Formats: sequence, C-alpha cells, structure tokens
Amino acid sequence: MTLLVQKFGGTSVGDFERIKLVAEKITQSKKTGQQIVVVVSAMSGETDNLVAMAHKVAAMPDPREYDVLLATGEQVTIALLSMMLIDMGCPARSYTGAQVRITTDNAHNKARILKIDQEKIKADLQAGIVVVVAGFQGTDEHGNITTLGRGGSDTTAVALAAALQADECQIYTDVEGVYTADPRIVSNARRMERVTFEEMLELASLGAKVLQIRAVELAGRYNVPLRVLSTFKNGPGTLISYEDRKMEHQIISGVAYNKDEARILLRGVPDAPGFAAKILGPISEANIEVDMIVQNIALNGFTDFTFTVHQRDFKRTMSIISPLADQLDIREVLVDDKIAKLSLVGVGMRSHAGIASKMFQVLGAEGVNIQLIATSEIKVSVILDEKYIELGVRALHEAFGLDQEPLQED
Ligand code: ADP
Ligand code: ASP
Ligand code: MG
Repeated sequence: MTLLVQKFGGTSVGDFERIKLVAEKITQSKKTGQQIVVVVSAMSGETDNLVAMAHKVAAMPDPREYDVLLATGEQVTIALLSMMLIDMGCPARSYTGAQVRITTDNAHNKARILKIDQEKIKADLQAGIVVVVAGFQGTDEHGNITTLGRGGSDTTAVALAAALQADECQIYTDVEGVYTADPRIVSNARRMERVTFEEMLELASLGAKVLQIRAVELAGRYNVPLRVLSTFKNGPGTLISYEDRKMEHQIISGVAYNKDEARILLRGVPDAPGFAAKILGPISEANIEVDMIVQNIALNGFTDFTFTVHQRDFKRTMSIISPLADQLDIREVLVDDKIAKLSLVGVGMRSHAGIASKMFQVLGAEGVNIQLIATSEIKVSVILDEKYIELGVRALHEAFGLDQEPLQED
C-alpha cells in the first residue's frame, strides 16, 4: 500500500468551500487504496493577522508567547478539515504538533524539527484513518510550543514523509508546480517537469517561496520524493529529485527575487585584522542571519564594508551597528531598506561561461543599476533598487529564453 503525505497551503484552505474541495481530493486518494497523512497550513491571511495582533500589543513580542499565538492558526484548519472528512464518511483524526510529538529545538519562531513520534500516526493509518496534522509547529523538550518559520508547513510535511518513509510528499498549492519564475510576475513563465534538489535549494533560498528552504534541505538529505502541484487543477506538477539522465537540458533553470532585504554600508572602516569579525560577531550572536557580504580593498588604511540582512531584522541590526560604529571609529553608516535581490539559478552555469556578463548587459540595457554582486557555482545574484525588480525578472526571463521548452536527453 502506498503512503502519501499531502500538504495543503493557506490558499488551498482559504475558505470553507476550498476546505471542502481539499476533503474531496483526500477521499478520492483514499478510495484508490492509499494511506494518507495530511498537513495543513492556517487559512490564508490568518498567520499574517496573528503577527499583526502580536505587534499591536507589544513592540518586540516575546518569542515564546509569539509562538503560542501563531500556532493557533493551524489548529483551526486541522479541526475543520477533519470534521468535513468525517461528515463525508471518511474516518479522520486531527493532531496538533504537540499531540503528534513533533519535537523541535528551542529556537522560537524558527525552530528545527529534531524527531517525530510515529506511534499514533501509524496506528491510525493501520486502522484506515486519515491523519490530519497541523503544519508549522512542534514543541521543545520542555513542552513549549514552537513554530518553524514562515512557510514552515512544507517542512512539517517533508519531515513526516521522511520519518514515515512515505512514497511521496505532495505539496499542493495555488500554482501548478515550480516555474522558471514567479508566475504572478512573468505571465509566460514555464512549469518545469523536474528540478534538482540543488537548484530548488538555491531558488527557495533566493526568494521562490513556493517551497520553504528547510523543506527542500530535508527532502534532499533523506531523499524524499517531493512534488509541487495544484490543489485546483489536475496535472503532474513538478518533481524535485536528484539529477538523472532524463533531466532537462537547460543552462538556467529559473529567475528568483526577494524584496525582503535591507543593505547596510559601513564607510571608512579601519583596515586592520579582526574588523569583519568585530562587526558581524555581535550580529550573529543576536541570531540575525547575514546574507551578502562585500568588502573592498583598502585605500589609505580604510575600507568599505557592506552586508545585507532580512528586513524584519533590520531594526535590530541597526540597534547593534549604531553603537558599534562609534566604538570602532567607523566613519559613516549608510542604509537602504528599499533594495531587492535578483538571481539567476542553474546547474548548467558550471560548464557555461558568460552567464553573469550577459545578465549584467541585459540589466544595463534596461537602465537598471547594479549595487552588489554575488556568485556561486550555480547562481548569480545582484542587489538593485526595489522599484526595478519586476522589470529585472521579466527582462532576464526573456533574454535567457526561459519560456522555451528545453531539450530532453534520451
Ligand atoms: P502555500 O500557501 O500553498 O504554501 P505559497 O504562497 O507559500 O503557497 O507559495 C506559492 C506561491 O509561490 C505562488 O503563488 C507563487 O506566486 C510563488 N512563487 C514564487 N516563485 C515561484 C516559482 N518559481 N514557481 C512557482 N511559484 C512561485
Ligand atoms: N501558516 C504559516 C505561515 O503562514 C505556515 C505555512 O503556511 O506554511 O507562514
Ligand atoms: Mg508556503
């Protein structure tokens, strides 16, 4: 008997009619003899509402209490979906993360799953019951409620699929798979049949929020077959897997963007050993992730040092950097939170020269100024003014012919 983990995102359970549609989909899969574990998100917009509530009552909401609040969204949908399934004659049972015993570390608001107790789930599946699990949540070893970071229901689904050795982890969402660019921005973006874990990891980390990055990491580590597909339209979706002979022959697989970054430029940093660590050490101690880092060759004993952080961490970063800049005799701190990151991703870059220069030419021809550049083996990212981001995504998609079907290897 096949075992499937099916995850339904916020828009897929956005109102009662949609939850009904999801319930019908599940009963259909069940009728074909499959065992099913379902993971659901909160109804669309609900987690955002909870976040807004927290910020109304506190300037810096306590992380533990923030998780207690945010985890409530998913509890509503597991109950509603299970009620509907039972009403339709399909045995179902809902579980919060705590009830399943999804144990995480204690990093509130971005916890990592450490282990999952399979006992209750397996017993229910044996008894022909559909198990409905709340995504995005767990508890730490002391029983405190934790959440897994925005978009974390994807990670719950993959972790369950890995623990239960499911045949496939299916991520149902509001688009028909993983596209060459966000289909909401590029109207002729193309759905990809298959993407490698490596490319998906880059796409997710560079802003393609169709999958949470940790979900892709976990799926790669445990070799969980992962498929993204639409709740509303039947189709094969996109399979994320290790590279094989049948992989598409595309040098570039996609364009990604991220508007949520802020840039901090430190001008006139003394050119002496240890300064980079003195600047970034306190930031990493505050658990703030730094994305791009650029330092120039020093001139006359001084250098410039630039880095980017997530916008939500910007204020906190500045509360560390401002006093530090005085202490370290840094001449000037210039900030910009209206920037965006635009990236090209593709495993084919390894063997093809000239991708970055073509990218810069295309952007230059559109009058887009590049502020920072970062490259890795399979990606090129640039920082630009936020107002050019949609223009940049469309221009690159067009110039690299990403709407064209790639060649297939036999
Ligand atoms: P869910 O609520 O189902 O988890 P998300 O909103 O988290 O859905 O993710 C789906 C969204 O991801 C799509 O609506 C789409 O706008 C966006 N997206 C961004 N980049 C891509 C891409 N390359 N392929 C598909 N979707 C993408
Ligand atoms: N409800 C959570 C969020 O909005 C988790 C998820 O949807 O995956 O981020
Ligand atoms: Mg999501």
